[in-house]
Amino acid sequence: MSAVKYQPFIDGQFVSSSSWDYISVINPSTGEALSQIPECTSANVRSAVNAAERAQKSWAKTPAIQRAGHLRKISQKIRENVNFLARTISAEQGKTLGLAEVEVNFTADYIDYMAEWARRYEGEILQSDRPNENILMFKQPIGVIGGILPWNFPFFLIARKMAPALITGNTIVIKPSEETPNNAFEFAKLVAETDLPAGVFNLVSGKGETVGQELSANPKIGMISFTGSVETGSKIMAAAAKNITKVSLELGGKAPAIVMDDADLDLAAESIKDSRIINSGQVCNCAERVYVHEAVAEQFVAKLTAAMQRAKFGNPLTEPDVDYGPLINAQGLAKVERLVASAVEAGAKVVTGGRRADRPEGAYYEPTVLVNVTQDMDIIKKETFGPVIPVVTFKNLDEAIELANETEYGLTSSIYSRSIDVIMRASNELKFGETYVNRENFEAMQGFHAGWRKSGIGGADGKHGLEEYLQTHMVYIQYDLNKK
Ligand code: NAD
Repeated sequence: MSAVKYQPFIDGQFVSSSSWDYISVINPSTGEALSQIPECTSANVRSAVNAAERAQKSWAKTPAIQRAGHLRKISQKIRENVNFLARTISAEQGKTLGLAEVEVNFTADYIDYMAEWARRYEGEILQSDRPNENILMFKQPIGVIGGILPWNFPFFLIARKMAPALITGNTIVIKPSEETPNNAFEFAKLVAETDLPAGVFNLVSGKGETVGQELSANPKIGMISFTGSVETGSKIMAAAAKNITKVSLELGGKAPAIVMDDADLDLAAESIKDSRIINSGQVCNCAERVYVHEAVAEQFVAKLTAAMQRAKFGNPLTEPDVDYGPLINAQGLAKVERLVASAVEAGAKVVTGGRRADRPEGAYYEPTVLVNVTQDMDIIKKETFGPVIPVVTFKNLDEAIELANETEYGLTSSIYSRSIDVIMRASNELKFGETYVNRENFEAMQGFHAGWRKSGIGGADGKHGLEEYLQTHMVYIQYDLNKK
């Protein structure tokens, strides 16, 4: 693929400038440069926000059902280009083609799902304490949304922010990750082929500390909807604080998986393996640490190790049937190496893997299982984001729940057991936004994806996620003045 130069999409146009620096986008499987994206200037960011602000006035007055029609045209375009979009995502992000196709199709479904809310979200009429008075609660759009995205599900996350924002009458300025922006530019091209009014959807590109900060600090932004790391979330909050801008933050995770002594061990091993293999383990909600009952630990680790050893990795675009691709970049690989090395130094034992792959190029890490792991190790405390499973043993459910809850993150958790008592205890006592019982950690679009503690503020999906993009306007109407 030749290194194309992309242009930001502002006010319905792909704009150009002679003053931009460019950032190269690299294929993590090969190290090859795929594209060049502009480092947008402050003026570009301001002009995108201004365009979104202008467009929002009439977009908010457009009936929601017509806004839904615009969204459906975008999802239709996506469905017509699944293969091309999947290849674009896979090349820049490193996920398998199969997973990239799932991401693209899910994105189209998600947009259609959000479009269905057009006739369904509603305000309220409240009982008044006074005679001849109506109290109306309107649900109104916030205005201009700034969407800042990570690299791990880059295409889906455009829709997760854009679709609820637009259906509720907001407009949006998206900034994709500089690691995986190509799919966002391709998304913008599809939007440009529809008749979505100019300024409703805008795309700017560049680094986080410049373009991302500029967007977060812009006083015309009504809400920053951010998905990414805790560190960046905190910087975005600080920038937004100057203008008291609302923030919605979906941040990192360190999901525990608890395997009880009555669990279906084959199911547990297979779905925990998937957690670490899907997208090379770079998924915020997947199991990152495993607690297994000591009575079944040996048996479970044997099954888990066998499952991990079967996982094949390689270049997802040129090697058929791989289960996972490279990590996003050299820093991602170095982080995984560091965490495994420090665990081993502190007494953990490598059962399988434990090293970077012996390949001339690409950021590949071998599927890895660690035992003799203890709660104080960084591999248990820090988000690893790689194909590595640390296993800790426990004696009883109380201990398992305590170990699972002992984390500064609070996104998701899972438990494998056949006992209703155990499942209900876990449902009541695990302190996470989501708990998955006897299944993999993958949320539904009609649910509510919202982390506790440092995993975030607010959330996405479903009715509650939609409401993030709305604000209330209370109107008190005294009528029949002649009777006073
Ligand atoms: P990141 O925080 O490094 O970057 C995310 C985005 O923020 C990028 O677009 C980046 O350019 C921008 N950014 C960086 N510094 C900025 C700043 N100072 N101001 C404004 N914007 C800035 O995250 P990442 O490495 O791209 O993504 C991985 C992280 O995302 C992991 O921690 C993962 O758990 C998390 N994640 C969470 C969810 C969720 O639903 N909770 C989903 C996917 C990913």
